[in-house]
Amino acid sequence: MTQKPEPAANAPLLGCIADDFTGATDLASMLVRGGMRTVQLIDVPTSAEPVAADALVVALKSRTIPAADAIAQSLAALAWLKAQGCRQFYFKYCSTFDSTAEGNIGPVAQALMDALGTDFAIACPAFPENGRTVYRGYLFVGDVLLNESGMEKHPLTPMTDPNIVRVLAAQSTVATGLLRYDAIAAGEQPTRDAAAKLRAQGVRLAIADAVSNDDLRTLGRAFAEAPLLTGGSGLAIGLPENFRRAGLLGAGEQAAQLPAVGGRAVVLAGSSSRASQAQVAHWRESRPALRLDPLALAAGEPVVEAALAFFEDHANDTVLLYATAAPEELGAVQAQLGVERAGQLVEGALAAIARELAQRGVRRFVVAGGETSGAVVQALGVTRLRIGAPIDPGVPWTLGDGPQGHLALALKSGNFGGTDFFTRALALQS
Ligand code: ADP
Repeated sequence: MTQKPEPAANAPLLGCIADDFTGATDLASMLVRGGMRTVQLIDVPTSAEPVAADALVVALKSRTIPAADAIAQSLAALAWLKAQGCRQFYFKYCSTFDSTAEGNIGPVAQALMDALGTDFAIACPAFPENGRTVYRGYLFVGDVLLNESGMEKHPLTPMTDPNIVRVLAAQSTVATGLLRYDAIAAGEQPTRDAAAKLRAQGVRLAIADAVSNDDLRTLGRAFAEAPLLTGGSGLAIGLPENFRRAGLLGAGEQAAQLPAVGGRAVVLAGSSSRASQAQVAHWRESRPALRLDPLALAAGEPVVEAALAFFEDHANDTVLLYATAAPEELGAVQAQLGVERAGQLVEGALAAIARELAQRGVRRFVVAGGETSGAVVQALGVTRLRIGAPIDPGVPWTLGDGPQGHLALALKSGNFGGTDFFTRALALQS
């Protein structure tokens, strides 16, 4: 009999695969909150060098790509996480179960199960703190069903069926089922018994009901030994405690602590989401800000150079450089340039500005916009982020290493954060 190698004493415990960037950060924040030192990797690392952390989260961009590609990328991430010594694995997707009719939640979950040699996993997108609950297999967003929440009109992943057992069944080639609320409310052992019954019936993937953090903690305890968990970030709430009970994790008071990063700061906004608009407007009331005009960029005008000059002219203050526009203005620019070209021009300009400012000594970046954040992080040459304390729910300060050394990065997807997010973020990392 071959002996299973014992993971190294300081090896990471939990290995996570997230199907998008901001979702990865959200999960990482949840784990840090539970006292796990967490590092987010941007794509599957090419180096097998060990990463010092309690939890690792590989951020893919696999939500809407063809299922076969999502499977291949997820398996590559799993192989890397296994090589790091992780003991348990987690597949993270959106709490609104964002997926297409072809997948990718079911196919990726199945492929990960096969690779881990397990024939049962739960799927639980519930995140009650954000209003996402699952009852009798139906997903609610606030007080309404998923298909009445606006998600039915999502451009890439329209969710028209609130019964996610059915949605998962349509995506999967194995039998799916429901781990009912009744068992979960009755506690850890009844939950395990109900799962064993489903498994005996041939169910391989089970949607788990959950309407509260207590339900998620019960699920976490019941599946402490499961090789694979799948869900939103909410399901991870109970996992740090499992590792602590097993004597594998300390109290974790320092998990969110990042070294202070000095140097100048800048705020870059490429998001026109409602929250970003309010944040830009709030900043402009009292701080220096310069707008980047996509039409001027398209005409080849020196917009980047003007932004850098503006930055130099305000040596004693932090500046905001933004492309954020009101919906009518955005629509007009997109009609003229095309949505994709407009987006690329703005992302390219903000990325070029970030790269140049890092060379000029800027070490703290507050960035608004999911895609914009991806472009900036790439331009800065950052491939991994240590996750710190939250600025607002779901948006932590992070520490990245670029060619110039430590960089503090606050990366905010469109609708996150309060109106004074930029100011508060800077006050926390100064
Ligand atoms: P969010 O997180 O709010 O969706 P993203 O950064 O993901 O923000 O996406 C916003 C997209 O809109 C980016 O591709 C960005 O380059 C583009 N964009 C930003 N400002 C403008 C503008 N004024 N006109 C056209 N496109 C813009």
